[in-house]
Amino acid sequence: TRILLTGASGFIAAHILEILLKNGHKVRFTVRTEEKAQALLSAYPEYASNVDYVLVPDIAVPGAFDEAVKSDPPFEAIIHTASPFHFRVTDIQKQLLEPAIIGTTSVLKAAKAYAPTVKRVVITSSFAAIVDRAIGNDPSKTYSEADWNPITEEQAQENASEGYRASKTFAEKAAWKFVEEEKPNFDVATINPPLVYGPIKKETSTLKQINTSNERILDLIQGKYKDGIAQTAVFLWVDVRNVAQAHVEAAVRPDAGGKRFFLVAGKFSNQEVVDIIAKHYPEYKDVLPKERQENDGFPKDGVYSADNSRSRQVLGIEYISLEDSIKDTVASLKVLGA
Ligand code: NDP
Repeated sequence: TRILLTGASGFIAAHILEILLKNGHKVRFTVRTEEKAQALLSAYPEYASNVDYVLVPDIAVPGAFDEAVKSDPPFEAIIHTASPFHFRVTDIQKQLLEPAIIGTTSVLKAAKAYAPTVKRVVITSSFAAIVDRAIGNDPSKTYSEADWNPITEEQAQENASEGYRASKTFAEKAAWKFVEEEKPNFDVATINPPLVYGPIKKETSTLKQINTSNERILDLIQGKYKDGIAQTAVFLWVDVRNVAQAHVEAAVRPDAGGKRFFLVAGKFSNQEVVDIIAKHYPEYKDVLPKERQENDGFPKDGVYSADNSRSRQVLGIEYISLEDSIKDTVASLKVLGA
């Protein structure tokens, strides 16, 4: 199958690229710069004849994907991952909402206008588009694909983290609306992960530019939380390799169309992460938090749960354990020089 992958230099997308190539797909990827393209290509010399790329410097520009979707041989599927995930913003509208929303709609419009052979578009959404902050940590709540974040345009402007959650919610809503109103030749599937941990591919990152969801692990082994760490804000996690596999399965399995997939391995706490690092990497003993968190890092009344049955049944995902994920994340940080 010929597949277009956007934002391939990202933490998650770099794993998607690897699976696509190893599964024998013919891949075109988009990245912002020539340098990022070359770094990715150099990781897969054996697949050189199955991979090409197009530079898309800014997904927030309408029409950004018009050229990227035109291909001979033509595409059958598109995996759209590119979207800002960081909190270093001064303008929520321009730096978070627009790239997320315009980026997503530009991919869909381009596919409809110029790539009539595309049958499936897989979009990386998020637990951010599912969670409802009014629910807090309520232990009686079980989140699933049926839930939508009720965030408003106004709340989106409150701070960068609400801005990010809104960007994912509004972008995903725009995608489902596009399919309903435009009735294109393709259907859509979304992958909605919570906090993603797991190994960082060395061709995509340096220690100075660690992706947002792994920052905490690097901070822990660099001693930033020596004097204690707060409770985590989100108690659900998943390994990047499962997230990547889900994107590929959702791109090729006919029955994945029209569905959201809540990709969640389970609950975790910061204390559990600390304990795993201490067990496997005793060299960090002196820089990890000295005091144990109360209640092993969970709220004393408990916390919400998640239903991951659709991802197991429809996509065949078998979830990687927190222990393996954190162990492999730290190993990858050591490769980067930590
Ligand atoms: P990364 O920051 O590593 O990847 C983001 C990718 O999007 C990068 O390739 C980045 O390019 C690209 N990008 C961002 N803004 C633009 C823009 N304006 N123009 C062109 N490219 C842009 O993060 P992740 O891999 O973690 O995130 C990938 C996707 O997964 C995102 O959609 C994110 O919302 C989603 N997600 C991530 C979770 C996590 O915990 N990691 C959880 C849930 C969802 P560049 O590097 O050149 O800036």
